[in-house]
Amino acid sequence: MEIEVHLCADKVKPPALDKLAFGKVFTPHMFIMDYEANRGWHSPRVIPFRKIELHPAAIVLHYSQTIFEGLKAYHGVDGKIRLFRPWDNIARLNRSAERLCIPKVDPDLALKALKTLIWIDRDWIPKEKGSALYIRPFIFGSEGALGVKPSSEYLFVIILCPVSAYYEEGFNPISIYVTDRYVRAFPGGTGDVKAGGNYAASLKAQEEAKTLGYTQILWLDAVERKYVEEVGTMNIFFYIEDKLVTPELTGSILPGITRDSLLKLATHLGLKAMERRISIDEVIEGAKSGALSECFGTGTAAVISPVGKIYYKGEEVLINNGETGPLAKRFFDYLTGLQYGEIDDEFQWTVVLEDPFRQSQ
Ligand SMILES: *Cc1c(COP(=O)(O)O)cnc(C)c1O
Repeated sequence: MEIEVHLCADKVKPPALDKLAFGKVFTPHMFIMDYEANRGWHSPRVIPFRKIELHPAAIVLHYSQTIFEGLKAYHGVDGKIRLFRPWDNIARLNRSAERLCIPKVDPDLALKALKTLIWIDRDWIPKEKGSALYIRPFIFGSEGALGVKPSSEYLFVIILCPVSAYYEEGFNPISIYVTDRYVRAFPGGTGDVKAGGNYAASLKAQEEAKTLGYTQILWLDAVERKYVEEVGTMNIFFYIEDKLVTPELTGSILPGITRDSLLKLATHLGLKAMERRISIDEVIEGAKSGALSECFGTGTAAVISPVGKIYYKGEEVLINNGETGPLAKRFFDYLTGLQYGEIDDEFQWTVVLEDPFRQSQ
């Protein structure tokens, strides 16, 4: 399928791209494609950024039949624009689609859509190291019909936001609050896919943690409220007695691409890495004894988010004296080094963006 391009009548200049609040500034164009049950996906196009009109009974508004992805385009030190493992985001988008009875998209077309849209708005990619263009693909059921069933109509949309460096005030550790009252996901649920409803359901716990003075929530498993699953909207890692440990994918953990990259990178750096169940008691005891020397969250937005303090059952414990550890720093430097083209990409994780219009001739 060819992607039609309708550019804005006037070229819109990007604003000063410093100090951008995350997700509030959007580029001048967007990608959109329609689905109807009898036609399949059709009419892929890049158009000027605009509001979307919805039927008040649109399935997404009532029953949350919606999924999304999040990735970034980076302006490298060599002037090249890079994407990081974009095909993994597209594969995950299709796994999310499958789980929510949303029709899958052709991965090649989705990657072409990403590349075309980013190329058109490439002047909006901030150049400062740490800043990037955040890419948000999403699909939702748009049929206007009340009744709990899969929508017969969908929209696949991609929007772009220039974002500042996540760590403007340095690589400072966050504090986390362990909740045994709320759960994020459960066996048989949708915790292992990026479904919109997961995030609506997590807001209450997150708000309570904030009120108590903590940055993020640490989620335990839903069945025993004993095993660590994730932190906020990030995967979690522990460095325990020279072993890098992250909870194994049990079905209620989101398989993060940063998580997977770290597991592969650890082996490459000569570290022992393992995926296994890890109880909150082991974490708290390890922090006290010093066996646990580092803890950090991983995800596309922050890359690595060091954890300095954990609250659990009336008690606060510090990890590494509340400071960022060397391993968190090392992973952060390595991954951002790849993303900004400073390190030779032995993993072939990055995709350098080229003019999609020239390629197609
Ligand atoms: C997106 C997300 C992550 C991180 O995934 P990345 O692919 O590394 O960005 C982790 N946990 C949850 C719940 C998420 O939604």
